[in-house]
Amino acid sequence: MWKHHNIKPIFWSVWFVLAILTLVTSLSSTYLLIWTVLFFLVLIYASFDIRLGYFLKSYYRNKNEQSRRVAITFDDGPSEFTPEVLDLLRTYNAKATFFLIGKQIQKFPNLAKQLLAEGHSIGNHTMNHSNRFGFLNAEQVLQEINSCDAVIYETLLLKTRFFRPPFGVTNPSVAVAVKDSGDLMIGWSIRSLDTVLSHGESIYQRIIKKLKPGDVILLHDTSEKSIFALKKLLDYLAKEKYTCVTVDELLNLQAYEF
Ligand SMILES: [Zn+2]
Repeated sequence: MWKHHNIKPIFWSVWFVLAILTLVTSLSSTYLLIWTVLFFLVLIYASFDIRLGYFLKSYYRNKNEQSRRVAITFDDGPSEFTPEVLDLLRTYNAKATFFLIGKQIQKFPNLAKQLLAEGHSIGNHTMNHSNRFGFLNAEQVLQEINSCDAVIYETLLLKTRFFRPPFGVTNPSVAVAVKDSGDLMIGWSIRSLDTVLSHGESIYQRIIKKLKPGDVILLHDTSEKSIFALKKLLDYLAKEKYTCVTVDELLNLQAYEF
């Protein structure tokens, strides 16, 4: 029910009724203004919480997880920090999913090949990771997805079905583009805020505070503090008898088109 395609017609119906009443009766235009502002607040809130799936269904955790499995995901790589991440994952026999930026794959093609060869999964995280991503139109979003897909194909000879929008932003343009591309939108249930918090310890504490089986954890393979948090997290997960698997395994999805 609480999806954009249901809410939008309700919004416009009420808006037109209020507009007519404002014009033909003495109803204050304030009601029309409040209703419009309320709708935009809903849109802004929904844009920043990918778990709501307000604009398009997103896959972000396995609610029915029976065993103690979680999926760690890394956005924005590959980067010069990725080898250290791969070493840690190998040490703890953990598998992860990397949402790669096309431009970064062009810089580090061998790292992209290596993480795939080591049994990790990959997804599309756009070609340029534009800071203006939330303001792109559907055609531009699709172009970002397609360009990244092309680089992935040139480098790794496969087509991923996983897409994660930069900053987790969703809106009507992203929804149209992702539907067109036929990808699955992958979110997260635990946001580490590792690009915001200053210390690895606070990143680690934030993750384990709410951690439960079936969770998808968001990290970035782009800084030392994230690597610090990852090491502590992998230690913790091993002690608590968790298994780290790829998103496709945890959510029972097919990661690639063949
Ligand atoms: Zn990102």
